Amino acid sequence: MKSKRCSQNNCQCFIIPSYILENLAKNNIEEARISLSKSRQVRVRRKIKEFDITGIVDLTNEVYRPYSESARHVYDCKGGTKLRAMEVRKEGDRSSTQDSAVNHAYDYAGIVRDYYLNVFLRNSIDNNGLDLVLNVHYGHNFMNAFWDGDEMVFGDGDGEIFINFTNALDVIGHELTHGVTQFTNGLEYAGQSGALNEHISDVFGIAIKQNYLKQTAQDADWLIGADIMGPSLKGQALRSMKAPGTAFDNKLMGKDLQPDHMKNYYQGEDDNNGVHINSGIPNKVFYLVSMEIGTDQAALIWYHAIQSLYATANFNQFVDMVETAAQKLADSGVVPATAAKTVKTAFNTVGLPY
Ligand SMILES: [Zn+2]
Repeated sequence: MKSKRCSQNNCQCFIIPSYILENLAKNNIEEARISLSKSRQVRVRRKIKEFDITGIVDLTNEVYRPYSESARHVYDCKGGTKLRAMEVRKEGDRSSTQDSAVNHAYDYAGIVRDYYLNVFLRNSIDNNGLDLVLNVHYGHNFMNAFWDGDEMVFGDGDGEIFINFTNALDVIGHELTHGVTQFTNGLEYAGQSGALNEHISDVFGIAIKQNYLKQTAQDADWLIGADIMGPSLKGQALRSMKAPGTAFDNKLMGKDLQPDHMKNYYQGEDDNNGVHINSGIPNKVFYLVSMEIGTDQAALIWYHAIQSLYATANFNQFVDMVETAAQKLADSGVVPATAAKTVKTAFNTVGLPY
């Protein structure tokens, strides 16, 4: 199996941000306390991995390796924290296993990989046929899922607040897109560049889900993580791209802090200066643009834009990149002629540029 060490040393790409786990821990949810401390250990481990980002990939580049070389490998951690503990399903195994976590991880990762190939001619996460390594049943009732710079890790959740983290295509799309970002522009995981990193993962997580379900922007719920919420929090989600700040409001998790406008920009230090919080602002823009021109077309503009981003990009620079990409694609007739104006109007609606 190809193995690469190409980690971004500062990426902390967990689907559940610490401030939510902290709220749960304060409410005496033991699993949250344990998940929080495990997550911190993983972060420390990740920070010592080698920093090696391959750089910007040109969308017009040819696919370097045959698509078939990107293989899925699903490993069962069996409640432990050792990764790649026991391989239980690999690319091409015909029959599914009895374990729905294994099958979901395998199937959804395949959908994500196929979307990037079919829509953007991107050959796996690194555009170079990287194998997709998926570890399931990590830890005991572990309340999180993350991309660790090389591979995916999924907890089972506690079954009450969160169910198995393999259960949601948008979560797997989100996490694997952290890998795409790592290999494409290496957006630093703090402040505005970190919020853009989170935003891009939400964008492609939701675009992949809508594409797979053949939903229009109008039909879709625009929720991230609705399918991992357990029976106690049914009907809530981690984020709403349509209405940032409304995804959850309950005694256990607290209230969704995402703003939908620059005037409510989060200035605090939590969450790496608000990476999962301020991402609500560009998320709203993507929603507004998708409602006008369709999610697939909006995703195409965003994908082009992220090719030119650099690691420390801020919101204003992102606005420039997206507007430029929209104009370029409109000029070549790929997206509607009005797309650039639509994008500009949507950014202005949330107070961008600022
Ligand atoms: Zn994330």
